Amino acid sequence: MMLEKTIKKEVSCTGVGLHTGKQIQLSLIPADKGEGIVFVRRDLGGIRIPANAEHVVPSNFATILEAEGATVQTVEHLLAAVSAMEIDNLVIDLNGAEVPALDGSAFPFIALLQKAGLVEQNKKRSFIEILKPIGVSEKGKSVTIHPGSAFEVSCHIDFAHPLIAKQSYHYWHGRSAFISELSSARTFGFLKDYDFLKEQGLALGGSLDNTVVVGEDEILNEKGLRYADEFVRHKVLDLIGDFVMLGKPILGRLEAHCSGHNLHAKLVQAIIENKKAWRIVDMPTATSSSPVCRALPIRIFS
Ligand SMILES: [Zn+2]
Repeated sequence: MMLEKTIKKEVSCTGVGLHTGKQIQLSLIPADKGEGIVFVRRDLGGIRIPANAEHVVPSNFATILEAEGATVQTVEHLLAAVSAMEIDNLVIDLNGAEVPALDGSAFPFIALLQKAGLVEQNKKRSFIEILKPIGVSEKGKSVTIHPGSAFEVSCHIDFAHPLIAKQSYHYWHGRSAFISELSSARTFGFLKDYDFLKEQGLALGGSLDNTVVVGEDEILNEKGLRYADEFVRHKVLDLIGDFVMLGKPILGRLEAHCSGHNLHAKLVQAIIENKKAWRIVDMPTATSSSPVCRALPIRIFS
């Protein structure tokens, strides 16, 4: 029987918000069994914003949650790390409206969670097992969840830029796979969009320290890319963070074509509404928890 988990002790860090440009303190605090993942806006008297679908605000540049008029944005990289560490219950305390970007990847959050340590709780961990395919699409972009005995992601991107172009990645979700394959993949942006984004009040904290910046014919970061296919790996990371909004870990195979946060949120909503297409199970079937399956991710194309 798998049990729910939280962290052993409180840990903190500070950093700049990618979009707000504000210096923000983040504390990760143990939470009770059954509490789920909850953001708390300490600066607004402790307003609680649960990380689930009913609190997601439509947006394509980052994942945003809202409750009682309070928001928290750019939650996806931290939530991907929380998912990879198989944490079910956690309070994420912030003194501002955005999770710090740190280096633009999920790795610093993994390191923070490892520093905190994990503890099992006296409650069975349950999963959403997908029984029938559910998909959403718009303007040539799509994301579909298919039945599967483990959480897998097939992600395909196609950018009209020669340094990215078409990339695909296939990934089996698990702690060690996430740490080695995805956690260090950073968010990225195009130099040509930078001024426009700033005019819109976005990317105010964006820099070469927390974003892969793609110029016309070169990567502007001094050390270049961390993986040759860092872009598609980051998209898989984003997908995993966005699917935390289901409220439970998922057993199914995600197939994504050029999708973004908005479409991910629509699929999460479609899954929640389509109750005949899934069931709650206590344990993944034997094949899904097989370490062999998780330890042998296959990259189809990069
Ligand atoms: Zn991202």
